[in-house]
Amino acid sequence: MTHIAIIGGGPTAIYTLKGLTRARKAVSITLFEREPWAGPGMPYRDGTNDPAMLANIASREVPRVTRTLAKYLHACDDGFLRRLGLTRDVIDEDSFYPRVVLGSFFTAELAEVVARLRGLGHTVTIRTKARVTDIVPARDGVRIEWQSTQRPEKARFHHVVIATGHDWADYDEEGEDESALLSPWPAERLKALSGEVGILGSSLTAIDVAVTVASAHGAFEGEDGDTTTYAVRGSDDPFRLTMMSRKGLLPEADWYYPLPLPDLAHFTPAAVEDLVATDRSGLLDRAFALLVEDLRDLDPDYAASVDLSSPEALSKSHFAPRMSSDLWEYARANLVEAEEGRRTRRAVPWRVALLTAHEVFEDLIPHFDEADLERFHNSLKPIFTDGYASVPHPSIRRLLALHDAGRLELVRIGSALDVSETGGKTVIGSEGEMLRFDAVVDARGQRPMRLTDLGFRSLSRSVRPGWEKGGYSLTIEGLEKGTVQCLAMPVLLRRRPFIQGLVNAAEMGETAAEAILAELPAPPMPRPGLTSMKPGLRLAR
Ligand SMILES: Cc1cc2nc3c(=O)[nH]c(=O)nc-3n(C[C@H](O)[C@H](O)[C@H](O)COP(=O)(O)OP(=O)(O)OC[C@H]3O[C@@H](n4cnc5c(N)ncnc54)[C@H](O)[C@@H]3O)c2cc1C
Repeated sequence: MTHIAIIGGGPTAIYTLKGLTRARKAVSITLFEREPWAGPGMPYRDGTNDPAMLANIASREVPRVTRTLAKYLHACDDGFLRRLGLTRDVIDEDSFYPRVVLGSFFTAELAEVVARLRGLGHTVTIRTKARVTDIVPARDGVRIEWQSTQRPEKARFHHVVIATGHDWADYDEEGEDESALLSPWPAERLKALSGEVGILGSSLTAIDVAVTVASAHGAFEGEDGDTTTYAVRGSDDPFRLTMMSRKGLLPEADWYYPLPLPDLAHFTPAAVEDLVATDRSGLLDRAFALLVEDLRDLDPDYAASVDLSSPEALSKSHFAPRMSSDLWEYARANLVEAEEGRRTRRAVPWRVALLTAHEVFEDLIPHFDEADLERFHNSLKPIFTDGYASVPHPSIRRLLALHDAGRLELVRIGSALDVSETGGKTVIGSEGEMLRFDAVVDARGQRPMRLTDLGFRSLSRSVRPGWEKGGYSLTIEGLEKGTVQCLAMPVLLRRRPFIQGLVNAAEMGETAAEAILAELPAPPMPRPGLTSMKPGLRLAR
């Protein structure tokens, strides 16, 4: 029997399991999760995250495992919904839910997909409180070593999928004393913060921090109606928040777009294939020229309002009006536009074109040379990220409420930061300015990592640089392609800058499963119930 190990028990692992339900031959799958239960993944785990933290993905956008999120919620009884902080009338395919609700959904979906696999005759073992410590490639398979509650253990597998997800290991940024910065997790710790609180970043995680600190000292009101307000409890002055971001901008409010996204006419996957096939030099500029044609056709007003002479010029002119306007007034106007778009289900053409374009770029980026990659990261990537990382409307309303209550400001800081601690204060120095805080939370989100940062020492020693073409397979001396696949998104981030998010988790899981299925011998599966399957044999230790 083929033995498969999946390391990590979050959404990517669940989508991998879903893909493996297509196996035509019985397989044995072992899933390792270091936490006490598998399923929710890091951003959706109760305890790590506060119930006030919202997901930025609506039910209709969450790729299916066995059913939609809204269908799952409708199947829950009223008592359970109450515990999740929901009432039945708010459940629909367009709503945004607290992230812990998605955690409960993925936990249930894991149980569902495991039941399906077992029903099909496969063996599935879920090992919780099992932290994988090393991956050791060998001629006859791959040895996984893990730490269980009792002791170190090991077993051998034919295929290994690394789905370890988010990693907040210490980063060594020059000039930054990381010990002076607080982690946004677990959320519980944020509730104790008071005084002048700095938040590095202004996107989803930074909003989470602001809302969690604010909720600990007061309450948002009017969230069911048009206007959200915020008031502290009691009469004291417990906290003031300052978000700090490179551009000094807030994220945009989630805007309506049709699903599936309409194809572009010029900048298409086929056109990109042609570009790559003909000549790799100047790839970014040649791809950009195609995108420009689409922007001119689809949204002439937008095209006329920006500088389309180069990716860099577009980036500068795209953000310029926002950077020169009052950011809170811009946020108010943007929220009105986004609400109107959702109500009328009308999409803004340039937004949809850029959203589609970022998906086409995903296939192109791995072909960029280092110079194009660097240019892309500094020019188009911020535009695309701004588009797809828009946030739920209640999150923008809460930020506006905090600002109106005199509790929140946002300042622009440069990219090179000086972080230090002096006289009990955390000092952030940037472009000659010094900002002093009682505490600073680093909410800049997941940063790229190297494979070696995952801490699997034997694997790091065996892997050859570069990836197998068209997938997530690592190149390892003496092992077949597809034996070890790395879906750990921090490691993929530099070459796949849009890899975060549930849509990508699903794509990665499906692709990894496909690579394993391609290696399986293919006699037809015995029909479940007619033939008893042997329990999974552990290979030689
Ligand atoms: C704060 C935050 C909010 C987000 N919100 C959204 C959102 O609203 N919508 C969206 O689409 N995306 C969101 N994302 C993006 C997120 O990347 C994905 O949605 C998703 O979590 C990726 O799933 P994953 O399984 O790859 O990783 P994770 O969710 O990180 O899961 C990995 C799992 O592996 C386990 N693990 C790690 N190392 C080991 C080990 N050595 N041994 C055993 N187990 C291990 C971890 O405990 C964890 O359970 C958010 C990300 C963050 C950080």
